[in-house]
Amino acid sequence: MSTSIGFQPLATADPDMDLEMQAQPLHRHTQEQVDDEDLEPITTAPRRPFPRKPTLSDRVEKLTDSAIKGLGPILITVAFLLLSVCIFCFFSVIIPYHYTWNEGQGFFGNLGYILNMVWSSYLVWGIMANYYYAVRTPAGSVLDGVKNAPNEALFQVVLSEMECYTEVPPTCKRCMLPKPERTHHCSVCKKCVLKYDHHCPWIHNCVGHFNHRYFLMFLTYLSTACFYFVIMGVGPFLLAADLESGDNWPYWLDRSLMAFAEVLAVAIGVAVGGMGCWHWFLTLTAQTTLEQYNNAYIKKMCKKRGETFTNMYDFGIFGNLMDFFNVGPRGHYPWYTAFLPLRIPPIGNGKRFERSGRGFVLDFGEEDDDMV
Ligand SMILES: [Zn+2]
Ligand SMILES: [Zn+2]
Repeated sequence: MSTSIGFQPLATADPDMDLEMQAQPLHRHTQEQVDDEDLEPITTAPRRPFPRKPTLSDRVEKLTDSAIKGLGPILITVAFLLLSVCIFCFFSVIIPYHYTWNEGQGFFGNLGYILNMVWSSYLVWGIMANYYYAVRTPAGSVLDGVKNAPNEALFQVVLSEMECYTEVPPTCKRCMLPKPERTHHCSVCKKCVLKYDHHCPWIHNCVGHFNHRYFLMFLTYLSTACFYFVIMGVGPFLLAADLESGDNWPYWLDRSLMAFAEVLAVAIGVAVGGMGCWHWFLTLTAQTTLEQYNNAYIKKMCKKRGETFTNMYDFGIFGNLMDFFNVGPRGHYPWYTAFLPLRIPPIGNGKRFERSGRGFVLDFGEEDDDMV
C-alpha cells in the first residue's frame, strides 16, 4: 500500500486505525529532507469523492455524534448546577463551621479565615473563568482568518498558511480543504479542528489549539478545589450524617445537601483529577491525545529497529510549558500569568508549529480515511 506520499503530518491519523498501521511503512522526517524538497504548488482543490452508500456503522456513528451534540447544552447546565451546589455549600456551611462555629478565635483565627476566603475565592474564579473560556473559545478551524477569501481560492489560501512537505497536501475528504499539521476532523462539530485533542461534551466544544489551556486549567482548579473541599468538609459531613445530633445543625442549608456535596466532591475529584493528570502528562510532553496514540506505536516500532524515538514538537518540560502557557522567553506574557485565570491566547495560529528537530511520521497511504 506504499504510495508516493513520503511524509504525513503526525496528527491526521485516527487512533482506531492501529491495526491498519501494522502494514504501513514508517518514515523518518528530518529538517534536511524537508529543505531538500522542491515542491510544485498545488493549483486545484481535489474533487469531492463520489458519495458511497452509508453502512450501518456510518449510521450509528452519525446518531452518536448527534446525541453528543444534543447532550452538550444539557451537560453544561448540569455541570454548572453541580458546581454551584458545592460552591454554595462551601461558603454557607464549611467556612462557617471552621471559623464562626467556635467563638473567640483571636488574631490567628481571623487571619486563617481571611486566607481561607482569599484562597477559596481564587479557586472559584479559576474554575468558573476557565470553564467559561473553554466553552466559549472556539478550538480553532482551518478557516480561521480566511473566511473572506472567495470559495474557489479557499483551498490555496489555507494551503499557503500551512507547512506542507509533500506534493499532495493532506486533505480532509469531508471539508475538502488542506489539513495543517496536528489538525483532525471532528465529526461532532463537522469541521477540521487545529491541534485537535478530543471533543468534550461537557464543554459542548472541541478541545484544540485555542482552548486546550482553559480546559487543562479548568481540570486543575476543579480537582484542587475538590481535594480542598473534601478535606475541609469532613467535619461538617460527619455532623450532617450524625442524625442523632438532632437540632445541632445551625445552618439554613439542609444537612442532606452537605452530605451530597461531600460525596459529589469525592466523585468529581477522582474523575477530574485522573483526567487532569493525563492532560498534564500530554502538555509536559507536547502531545495531543491522538498524537500520544500514534507516538506510542511509532516508539514501539523504533525500539524494534534499535532507533530512538523523538517527538518533533517536544522542547523539554520547561520549553513545552512556556509554549503551552505562552510565557517566558519563548512566549509573549510574564510567567506569573500561568497562575491567573486570564484569557491568554496560545502561541501561533495553530497551522504551523515550531519543531525541535527530527520527527517520525506514519504513512497511511491513499486509503487513509481522512485523505483523498
Ligand atoms: Zn475536515
Ligand atoms: Zn468537536
